[in-house]
Amino acid sequence: MHCPFCRHPDSRVVDSRTSDDGATIRRRRQCPNCSRRFSTSETASLSVLKRSGVSEPFSRAKVISGVRKACQGRPVSDDQLAMLAQRVEESIRSSGQAEIDAHQVGLSILQPLQELDVVAYLRFASVYQGFDTLEDFESAIARLRAEAKQNGESVPESAG
Ligand SMILES: [Zn+2]
Repeated sequence: MHCPFCRHPDSRVVDSRTSDDGATIRRRRQCPNCSRRFSTSETASLSVLKRSGVSEPFSRAKVISGVRKACQGRPVSDDQLAMLAQRVEESIRSSGQAEIDAHQVGLSILQPLQELDVVAYLRFASVYQGFDTLEDFESAIARLRAEAKQNGESVPESAG
């Protein structure tokens, strides 16, 4: 890596530290020519293997555009979509794999999307989990209802 100050083609690493989530390494470097210091950060590349067999870099923008379709007409903001894409990337990176299936990306979207908007979730799940019949929708809805009820019951009851 060239020194950003004098363009010297070489540099020396003086310090390395890993970010809290373990996904990024920051290095402090010093230029042997002008002695100035600069930082670089290093992230493992994450590839998505598409059904066609083509592999491409993971893209949060693609996650967002896929989810946005399912969110049409729903009260979901761009900020929420950006947060969702970030969660998806974090959960995929935490699996430690360098390359994942496009289908796996879709599955990683389901949980955060369910928390965001259940209708959008159902639309999305019907594609990624291959809902074929009305029964598939019914069982998904029954599960959503059961989970909503469970969450409701976990709220502490007031004394008396
Ligand atoms: Zn330099």
